Amino acid sequence: MNDAEFLKKKFREYYSKHAVNSVPSIEAREFGIGDFKKKIVKRHMHFASVAELNNFLRKEAPLYISYSAAYYKEPEARPMENKGFLGSDLVYEFDADDLGLDCKEEHDFWYCKRCGNSGKGSVKNCSNCGSAVEQYQFVCEKCLDATKKQMLKLIKVLDEELGIFEQVSINFSGNAGYHLHIRSEKVRPLSSAARLELVDYLTLAGFTAEASIADFSEKMLKCAKPQAVKGAKARVLNRMMEFISNASPDELAAFGGIRLSKARYVHENRAKIIEKMKQGILDYLPGSKAISVKFWQNLIEHAKHCEALKLDRQTSIDIHKIVRVPDTLHGSTGLIAKTVPLEHFKEFMPLKQAVAFGSRQIKVFINKAPKFKLGAERFGPYENEQAVLPEYAAIYLIGKGLASLCE
Ligand SMILES: [Zn+2]
Ligand SMILES: [Zn+2]
Repeated sequence: MNDAEFLKKKFREYYSKHAVNSVPSIEAREFGIGDFKKKIVKRHMHFASVAELNNFLRKEAPLYISYSAAYYKEPEARPMENKGFLGSDLVYEFDADDLGLDCKEEHDFWYCKRCGNSGKGSVKNCSNCGSAVEQYQFVCEKCLDATKKQMLKLIKVLDEELGIFEQVSINFSGNAGYHLHIRSEKVRPLSSAARLELVDYLTLAGFTAEASIADFSEKMLKCAKPQAVKGAKARVLNRMMEFISNASPDELAAFGGIRLSKARYVHENRAKIIEKMKQGILDYLPGSKAISVKFWQNLIEHAKHCEALKLDRQTSIDIHKIVRVPDTLHGSTGLIAKTVPLEHFKEFMPLKQAVAFGSRQIKVFINKAPKFKLGAERFGPYENEQAVLPEYAAIYLIGKGLASLCE
């Protein structure tokens, strides 16, 4: 049995015991499936009922299955224009890869198939022979905590600022992040342009100092009064005041783009500076107006960067996009793209709670893997070696294309 057949066999066993019922209005959705190392090989599929979907999963056991956020009159019709678009859920996706985290240098690596060279982090070409390399991404608890924090912030903004947090479902992506689906009638008719506007608001695209909260045109530098504005503007202003009150002179110099002597001035006068901000005045630093303007611009940029949500833009704008079916298996990890009830989201531990397979011991040959945690155990690092792993860890590495079954 080869690796692809092994995964299929295990996925089939899983689906024979676990029914999937996570897609409302299933008859109006387009589906797509993927195969070993290919996330989408076929689209424009259609299931008339939940039972039909589950029959398919038990019989075919696709390694990936996605569904349309959109509702169609005829989901299987092609091309796209013939499907009869009826509206679309809003879907937001966070992936650890988009967060620029330091830990990626520790657990991500590249591998050159041509000369066998490998290294940490991500590069395009082999440092030895120059060939294009394969990139391998892993996740750790830090990655998944960071994506969870982003999701919690998104929930707050959708609820408190945009008022569209209704009929929401959250699920683990099965790999490196989380998905959120808003399925209320309210969002279904939104055009691509309206969806783009929402994403721009969430990611603070177009939010600049002078366009949004500051006025540097006169002698006195002004800002919007934090208590007089709402939403993103208030968040950015509050973040600035929080930064000024907590940052060290070194941090003020680095993020404000000013000399340490001026940063010390800000640090010593922080109470007065914050008091002025509350009255809509941005204090002058010693020196020219230009220095003060630069400092405040940099500080607004820094606060904006902290407040901007790092979500996948394409997923939320593209009304024809297909996304992983919640509660199905992810073929690159063997983990369940598990639905997480909102009240349990904070405590949810994907690397433990999304494990689908058991602990039966399996012998595999591992090309390479960093240290990683899965289930209740720690594994690795491995390099060109045989190992006996619990089934769930073997499937995790086989799915990533880093290990093979030993006969
Ligand atoms: Zn090479
Ligand atoms: Zn990490």
